[in-house]
Amino acid sequence: MDLDYTAADEAFRDEARQFLREHLPAHLQHKILTRQRLTRDEAIGWQRLLNQHGRVAPGWPVQYGGTGWSPLQRHIWAEECAQAGAPPVLGFGVNLLAPVLMHFASEEQKRHYLPRILNADDWWCQGYSEPGAGSDLASLKTRAVRDGDHYVVNGQKTWTTLAQHANMMFCLVRTSTEGNRQSGISFLLIDMTTPGITVRPIITLDGAHEVNDVFFDDVRVPVTNRVGEENQGWTYAKFLLGHERTGIAAIGHSKREIARLKRFAGERRVNGKPLDEDPVFMRRVADVEMELMALEITALSLVAEGASQKIGAEASILKITGTEISQAISELFLEAAGPAALPWRTEASDTSADDDGAAALAAHYFNLRKITIFGGSNEIQKNVIAKMILGL
Ligand SMILES: Cc1cc2nc3c(=O)[nH]c(=O)nc-3n(C[C@H](O)[C@H](O)[C@H](O)COP(=O)(O)OP(=O)(O)OC[C@H]3O[C@@H](n4cnc5c(N)ncnc54)[C@H](O)[C@@H]3O)c2cc1C
Repeated sequence: MDLDYTAADEAFRDEARQFLREHLPAHLQHKILTRQRLTRDEAIGWQRLLNQHGRVAPGWPVQYGGTGWSPLQRHIWAEECAQAGAPPVLGFGVNLLAPVLMHFASEEQKRHYLPRILNADDWWCQGYSEPGAGSDLASLKTRAVRDGDHYVVNGQKTWTTLAQHANMMFCLVRTSTEGNRQSGISFLLIDMTTPGITVRPIITLDGAHEVNDVFFDDVRVPVTNRVGEENQGWTYAKFLLGHERTGIAAIGHSKREIARLKRFAGERRVNGKPLDEDPVFMRRVADVEMELMALEITALSLVAEGASQKIGAEASILKITGTEISQAISELFLEAAGPAALPWRTEASDTSADDDGAAALAAHYFNLRKITIFGGSNEIQKNVIAKMILGL
């Protein structure tokens, strides 16, 4: 298998770099590289700029607004975006909901929602998890009862990422208690401004308001907002989860962060010497870097085999390793910063108080604890691998 980049691939990479040099606003780049949070308007603004150039959703079919790039070109684009410090697009709509709509929604729903997802006209949040229904998602209890041409929804979702910004939620609800638990679930698109919805912040370990509880109290949702068949939502929900896992490996991001970690270590002095002359610390950096190289080769092999189109246990491998690497890098950064990271402040993630981002390091470290939990915890991914690859 030949994983060498061709001259055409390198030309594509140059063009991607040039695009980002010309279009990525310096203040957004600075915020990303110093681990600050973007405002709602900043995130939407960047996505709209990308949309003007047809670059929001490289993986979508061309008929819906995709680029027609090969899997390797999409990999290169993602890598260049990460290297440049470009903000991510609004993933809940672009990467998670859109594939479900393309496969299972009515033509009218596709026509309405897909262009709005591209242009960030809607901010989508994900209403899957509930208290008591995380890994065991099929035990979800939020009820939707038919009343004429509406469903009346009652219940609670939890851990809903950025629901405070969202005007739309894709939501799993129970429409039947007959048969097994999986067969009574439906997939609804809910307007978050509907009366009866309450969003309550959950403040996380890093002091951030990133997740929420969402309560539904007699919320009326038009039946036309259901995707696919009633009681068939579990099929659509699982399809979506496969797409969630593939995106979390963050290889380009980790490559950028390893390079920055080495530079950072060169600037820090421990016992009178630069930290990058400490063999114990640098051996740990090298260990993580080797893991990352192995992960990249695995990901590129999947690209070369065209397997990225087929969502299976490979996604679980990428998710486990990619998230463990991201966490290991954040830990090394914290150690490298030493006392500079001690007076950590969550505000450091909202302001540009320091240029090397040291003040935001601890908040970032705490924030990254989430990545081995969401998108299906890493323990659950190991179960998937045991079953689908090892046949246990
Ligand atoms: C920051 C953050 C953001 C999130 N955003 C969203 C969101 O936007 N929308 C949404 O719907 N959900 C979201 N989630 C929820 C996330 O999907 C769940 O937290 C996750 O699925 C785990 O569920 P749980 O928290 O209920 O833990 P549990 O399922 O109770 O698991 C607890 C522990 O037991 C382990 N465990 C459970 N079952 C097994 C098993 N069968 N075998 C081995 N180990 C097992 C788990 O790995 C975990 O370590 C988010 C979570 C976090 C932390």
